[in-house]
Amino acid sequence: MLEPAIRVTRLTKRYKTVLAVSALDFEVARGSVTALLGGNGAGKTTTLSMIMGLVLPTSGTIEVLGQDMVRHRYRVLPRMNFSSPYVELPRSLTVKENLAVFGRLYGIPDRAETCARLAEELDLVRFLKRPTGSLSAGEKTRVMLAKSLLNQPELLLLDEPTASLDPDSADWIRRYLQNYTRQSGATVLMASHNMFEVERICDDVMVMREGKIEHRGTPAELIRQFGRDTLEEVYLDIHRRDGDLRAAQ
Ligand code: ATP
Repeated sequence: MLEPAIRVTRLTKRYKTVLAVSALDFEVARGSVTALLGGNGAGKTTTLSMIMGLVLPTSGTIEVLGQDMVRHRYRVLPRMNFSSPYVELPRSLTVKENLAVFGRLYGIPDRAETCARLAEELDLVRFLKRPTGSLSAGEKTRVMLAKSLLNQPELLLLDEPTASLDPDSADWIRRYLQNYTRQSGATVLMASHNMFEVERICDDVMVMREGKIEHRGTPAELIRQFGRDTLEEVYLDIHRRDGDLRAAQ
């Protein structure tokens, strides 16, 4: 039996006075598409950033694909990647240059072919010669996604993968991600505010609040548990109940 793609134990991150992530324990199964939900400031981006090795935990452990992420991140970084609207690619480089630079950084053997294929698949061909900083937010999201797929990652961490995309592009990206995971068997952990997206492409959902996971299950399990019709309604139930609890304190 393979170890899980991700295993975090007592994972905690404190930024001075803010406890962003508080003693999290969870596993993400290989080949699953798991969503991390929660209101603004719940700790989703901080959790993803620690798993990627971009932010150091205050305490706790993170294992990715069987490796300790704090001690041996360089063993596992080539097998994973991430895409986030909060991390910018070098703005003055053209899209083509950015893909080439990251391709070289990742040491992909057939770099030119891979960059050309991803540019084609993610509809970037007409932007290849444009400075990345001059693209619209939605266009940048697609470039970032292409960057994150250059090394054919076994683990893909996505922060709001369809942020700023128009409905048609968002739908197209969701289908692309579904195909990618089906064909490659890759694991995806994604933060999202889009419940329709989560219901459609995720098979496991974790709901965070104040740095902790409060609910977990498949979209269908959560919908059944809350007696609702959609994940959007479940999310609003949780969020409003939390608001009422806070108001009563
Ligand atoms: P959103 O949905 O708004 O993106 P999130 O769930 O991703 O929110 P995080 O960005 O992880 O939340 O933030 C969790 C908490 O940590 C918030 O209270 C935030 O203000 C705080 N925080 C995040 N990064 C920093 C930082 N670099 N310095 C100080 N506090 C931070």
